[in-house]
Amino acid sequence: MPKAKPAKGFGTATVAPNPQDECSFETTVFDKYEINFSAKAIRYSVQVIRKPKIIEPFGLSIVFHEALPESWKTDPPSRLLMGLGMAVISHVWTGFCTPTIIVRAGRLSPDDVRFWQDVYTYGLCEHFLINQIESLDGRAGGTLIVDIRVVVDSDESKTTPQPAATTSAAPPPAAAVSVPKRVMVPVGGGKDSATVLQLMRKAGVAQVVPFFLADPTGEWQQCWRYRAVCAAAGTEAPCIVDFDWPSANYQRFHAIKRSRPGMQNKWDNSARLWAALCAFTAATAALVRDCEYVAVGNERSANLGNGVSWGGHVVNHQYDKSFAFEARAHAYLRPCGVYYFSALMHLWDVQVVEHFCRLARAFVPLIISCNEPLGRANSRWCGQCEKCAFVFAMLSAFLSLPHEAMAVWGDDLLETTEIFPRFDELCGRREQVQAELDRAPEASLALLDEWNDDNLLPSWLEPTCRELFQERVRVTPVK
Ligand SMILES: [Zn+2]
Repeated sequence: MPKAKPAKGFGTATVAPNPQDECSFETTVFDKYEINFSAKAIRYSVQVIRKPKIIEPFGLSIVFHEALPESWKTDPPSRLLMGLGMAVISHVWTGFCTPTIIVRAGRLSPDDVRFWQDVYTYGLCEHFLINQIESLDGRAGGTLIVDIRVVVDSDESKTTPQPAATTSAAPPPAAAVSVPKRVMVPVGGGKDSATVLQLMRKAGVAQVVPFFLADPTGEWQQCWRYRAVCAAAGTEAPCIVDFDWPSANYQRFHAIKRSRPGMQNKWDNSARLWAALCAFTAATAALVRDCEYVAVGNERSANLGNGVSWGGHVVNHQYDKSFAFEARAHAYLRPCGVYYFSALMHLWDVQVVEHFCRLARAFVPLIISCNEPLGRANSRWCGQCEKCAFVFAMLSAFLSLPHEAMAVWGDDLLETTEIFPRFDELCGRREQVQAELDRAPEASLALLDEWNDDNLLPSWLEPTCRELFQERVRVTPVK
């Protein structure tokens, strides 16, 4: 499952979009969506309206590998599918950053609008910084907060069912105390989701249902590691969904943009609302598979910003993995029938690795979370990137047999020269370029004692998490 690539060289962009030139755009229109039952797909239509009245249409689809519920033909989960749509269309909007989004596809409550305004602003602040966008309308003193206007046909507004609750301030219904029979767990290829899979088992969940969002289409089938992780965890058959984007038009736009003088390296589109898309797609999949809970594997360091601000907003390239997002997405999705939470938010990353080594040791040869993976279907660790350095160092610290980590990479990375700069960054001896690796191992080991109370662990899961936390293995840093 791809993640937004880390920002490379904050503040190095030299070309800002000009609101007066041919590549400036005015309005994004979230036009409509439809459920196509024969295609097992939810299809979203977006238009970007340029001056002078040139319309660029885009189609994006969420394609399931299984049938959608028959009940949706008469009673679709409209509020959830509109929220999913806002996450989906963000992948077009980031290409244009229009100051306005007009929503014609359906209803969003005022609280829903505020939620998405914040997600677009804080979740895409890295995108604004990379591309040196100071205001959405290109004017000095302008804003980075998109103006979302909901324009629903009056007839539709009469017939569209109102959501059960629309205010994010309302307390969500109490979660069940007893262990649920079915929990959906979004999986990638890394240690975090493998840890969550095992955590659910340890808590007594009868059926763990993996969820995988593929981008590009076919990603699941191409990489053996995803299947191997689910097989090792003994899960139910995974719910696989393809994110079908961008359309040919989107690619054409970017080809035009890159062909212009001075724009060869821009537009940098690497920062996306991927975790937000996963959250809302997984919630939709949870309804398809009859799961009340969606347990993601976002840990506490996602709350930390990148140490820079842009347009008055703190840049956090993991905003949609942070607790701030999690809490609001939880409140958004709970009235839709889904309890969305992170099963790792009470832990720092180093604690997750320690838990992983105890809970999911058999998964060590199966996982991958490399930033620059190699080989067919990107299934091999590169052994040179920041993530390889971090995961190797942490696994070496917590696995009792040193060759276990070496076997994964086929080498002892501490003895190879290519990755030395990355270890220097981890140890604070060199300026870091990878924002998410923000703590030296020495400092990280001290974090083993910390428990984050800002979490949404359900009452049936918290005792298991507390027990694991108390049983943690203390290690002494290598001098
Ligand atoms: Zn790597």
